[in-house]
Amino acid sequence: MGWSIALHGGAGDIPVTLPPELIERREASVAGLRHCLDVGVTALTDGRSALDVVELVVRELENHPRFNAGRGSVLTSAGTVEMEACIMDGMTKNCGAVSGLKTVVNAISLARLVMEKTPHIYLGFDGAEAFAKEQGVETLEPSDFITPENIERLKLAKEADRVQLDYTAPEQKQVLQETHTANEDPDSKLGTVGCVAIDSEGNLAAATSTGGLVNKMVGRIGDTPIVGSGTYANSYCAVSATGRGEHIIRGTIAREVAALMEYKDLPLKEAAAYVIEKCAPRGTVGLVAVSAKGEITMPFNTTGMYRACATQDGYSEIGIL
Ligand code: ASP
Repeated sequence: MGWSIALHGGAGDIPVTLPPELIERREASVAGLRHCLDVGVTALTDGRSALDVVELVVRELENHPRFNAGRGSVLTSAGTVEMEACIMDGMTKNCGAVSGLKTVVNAISLARLVMEKTPHIYLGFDGAEAFAKEQGVETLEPSDFITPENIERLKLAKEADRVQLDYTAPEQKQVLQETHTANEDPDSKLGTVGCVAIDSEGNLAAATSTGGLVNKMVGRIGDTPIVGSGTYANSYCAVSATGRGEHIIRGTIAREVAALMEYKDLPLKEAAAYVIEKCAPRGTVGLVAVSAKGEITMPFNTTGMYRACATQDGYSEIGIL
């Protein structure tokens, strides 16, 4: 059996048409996906392990400013960056996770170091930063992660928040909702990145990395670093999810796909389709997954998901909507 790889750059409310001035931004994201897919395909062709490949590809996605991870991470309500990531090896079920990073360039590599160099699975905030320093990973000033696009996104999100307050009188709400639509980021996307792969030896791995949600509370932890929610791999499949973290955590989305395969004998596509349909509300989640048989699936119940995949026998696909 050959290798397979799938990756995503976030699921969300992605509009079908864009104003001309934003088309370039979308094209940059698609070019980024294509580049990261090529990096993964080359590494798999060279015989690198699934674990190495998902880390490598997620690093590339983190380094791309169009995605919500690494530089390009969205901002908390305080205008700061708090990045998180998780990596998991399917064969051993070893995993590592980090949260609350402000200075680490590649959160996914720190997650792998937690997995390999500590007796623990998950480090957050000051402890994770101290571990990063101790390991000598690349860091930058917190302000270096903040892009002008994300300052603008936070501003729009804060304005939109005001209109979503439930106690607003209905007639006022109508007026405010119109304002909200006008104020929305027309290219809004949740933008987390993830990669899953099976190598030619049959090892599965999953990795996910994010800046979280725009205007999230300081200290909020989403689904991405939570094993079984945003990220999961075992000997049946590897899954990386994206979307509204709180819903993904409630639905234990990634683990549920694996559980349906393990306990109900469902094929990958059916298991993932069931989870997307039944385990989270419409408009909140997407995932990429590969199985031990090398099958790939990339379902979502949002309007779109930045995604790409390839298999050793030459199949390849890149899509948004
Ligand atoms: N799931 C991420 C979170 O809630 C966001 C995303 O997927 O874009 O933190």
